[in-house]
Amino acid sequence: MVVDCHTHVGALDHFSPSFVAEMVRAWGEMSWPGDDLAAHQSAMSGLDRAIVVAMDAPAVGMVVPNEYVSSYVATDPERLIGFASVDPNRPDALDRLTLAVEDLGLRGLKLGPIYQHFDPTSPPAIELFRHAEHLSLPVLCHQGTTFVSDAPLRWARPFLIDDVARACPDLKLFIAHLGHPWCEETMAVIRKHPNLYADVSALHTRPVQLYMALRSAIEYRVTDKLLFGSDFPFATAAETAEALRSVNDAVGTGWPPIPAEVIEGIIHRPALQILGLEEK
Ligand SMILES: [Zn+2]
Repeated sequence: MVVDCHTHVGALDHFSPSFVAEMVRAWGEMSWPGDDLAAHQSAMSGLDRAIVVAMDAPAVGMVVPNEYVSSYVATDPERLIGFASVDPNRPDALDRLTLAVEDLGLRGLKLGPIYQHFDPTSPPAIELFRHAEHLSLPVLCHQGTTFVSDAPLRWARPFLIDDVARACPDLKLFIAHLGHPWCEETMAVIRKHPNLYADVSALHTRPVQLYMALRSAIEYRVTDKLLFGSDFPFATAAETAEALRSVNDAVGTGWPPIPAEVIEGIIHRPALQILGLEEK
């Protein structure tokens, strides 16, 4: 079974003009296929399951509504699992999350402190994490950098999740993109807490960083806590698997290789079981 733990969908009008301008500045083009859900479907070929996330980040002009994700995953309920997103700054954040589960059938929570302008260790954020824990929802949290300029890096560090895990020991949470560029910090945090994990998405364009991060995961003995994810549309699952399988090419022959069993272990990780998302 291959599970892509981190994919996005969204229509062009879910992004503000300033957000689009930042994307063009960073990537040279608008690297988003718009509301081409067929592109997501075709990226799914060869995959058994994919998690599809909403994004409630009005602070940076990116709002992919929970309803949008819910209706998309309803088109392929055998394979697609929708995650809600709720901005903890909203006064009704807890109710929104409850509604997303009860009325929209969403099964996890996506957060991005850097995009939603919140401190993950602050009382309202911890309250939302506790609510997710209470609802048995796994959380995908974007700790790591971004191309967006009005996104505070001080709330992006992976080590901040240590406080979250200490407050919510039963919460299953995975850090996006190995927390790049603070990948070693991510290894230190996920090693400490039994219910913390990290996904390998969006590092296909940085093969040396990916190699170093995987070496670090081996040395900290946390490779079994790395989940497979693509960050579609920024990469497909096939491109991500290819980047993992060729990661040793990024460095010279004097470097210790990442063993094939580590790579295949990541690609075939039983993420649904780990995150408590197995079909009931
Ligand atoms: Zn993402």
